[in-house]
Amino acid sequence: MKILVINTGSSSIKYQLFSMDNNRVLAAGNLEKIGEPEGLHTHEVLDKGEQKTVLYDPVQDHETGMNRIVSLLTDAETGVLKDKSEVDAVGHRVVHGGEAFKAPTLIDQAVLEAIKENIPLAPLHNPANIVGIETSQKIFTDAVQVAVFDTAFHHTIPPKAHLYALPYELYTSMKIRRYGFHGTSHHYVAQTAADLLSKPLESTNLITIHLGNGGSITAIEKGKSIDTSMGMTPLEGLIMGTRSGDVDPAIHSYLIRNSDMNIEDVDAVLNKNSGLKGICGRNDMREILTAAKNGDGKAKTALDMYVYRIKKYIGAYFAILTTVDAIVFTAGIGEHSTDIREYVCDNLQNLGLILDKTRNVSVEKGPRQIQSDLSKTKILVIPTNEELKIALETKKLIE
Ligand code: ADP
Repeated sequence: MKILVINTGSSSIKYQLFSMDNNRVLAAGNLEKIGEPEGLHTHEVLDKGEQKTVLYDPVQDHETGMNRIVSLLTDAETGVLKDKSEVDAVGHRVVHGGEAFKAPTLIDQAVLEAIKENIPLAPLHNPANIVGIETSQKIFTDAVQVAVFDTAFHHTIPPKAHLYALPYELYTSMKIRRYGFHGTSHHYVAQTAADLLSKPLESTNLITIHLGNGGSITAIEKGKSIDTSMGMTPLEGLIMGTRSGDVDPAIHSYLIRNSDMNIEDVDAVLNKNSGLKGICGRNDMREILTAAKNGDGKAKTALDMYVYRIKKYIGAYFAILTTVDAIVFTAGIGEHSTDIREYVCDNLQNLGLILDKTRNVSVEKGPRQIQSDLSKTKILVIPTNEELKIALETKKLIE
């Protein structure tokens, strides 16, 4: 069985073609800058010694882009398929499933309409995801189309954690509540963590910490999400590359009343010019760590704030979970930054967390334990793999 996993953005299509006989990636690529004068398309064939193709010619729209992906996948040189009909299913990452979608779903017209109804909740993401689905329906006419939602894993969060203390009608009439995101990643690393600890996921309590450009942290009780830091949108919670995370909501009206900013400007500031970038002018964690080590005061402040916010959430989630088998670091920063893991775990022995500094810096790459033998709670590093999770969920559904 072959499954194509697609993650469509407003000007990009990321894709991975999996052979589900051995869960291997056959080919993968990222088509960026759709609609711009110069495109950027990288395509790799993994079974042919990671042979890489890079194309710069412009791609006017998503359909043209998807057709080019098909050409590359079926080309004698760059391809891995004889014909596009070999693709049995297409798994789509869909950011916002709202309250309607609690699990991966076969896409039909009604489902597509329901995803469209969620556009106001994710105005940047869902329209692009819909274009990806509609284009793929046109091109892969024989394949089953499946939507895997970023929000679905968090549908188990109870009302006391998913409601905001606003007038209740704002929940019933406008669907204002916490949905949570990165669900595919939190679910994938939770399952991998349970496997590593040789425990069924259904009896494992975890705090999973996804630290990429976006960041979120989830409290998992008996394998189910019971709270997460992102909210109605991916802006709430941890400090991120360019997003503020938690702020006093009165800041919005204060800025509008007392500066020349309008609501669009405030939205842009909070999403694009805040977080690490807002404090120290950079959002790449590698650069920030280097700058802080070289004495850059703002980089040091940004780093301190970033780590402090994560610690606060870890403390809060320990309080609601009562017992925690492990905390799990994942995504770009969580998987690769030995410094951030060390700063986050520093002085958490009262929570039963003691890092082993040698294990933390080991060059090992896969899922691993990095706590000291004296640590009551395990500390894990688990590389996330959202694409594989989407492929596996798609396979499960169509079988
Ligand atoms: P996205 O959320 O866009 O998928 P990633 O999960 O790839 O992003 O994470 C990107 C972040 O990971 C960037 O801030 C980058 O600097 C950081 N990162 C990657 N490798 C390292 C490393 N070795 N040390 C510190 N940070 C790293």
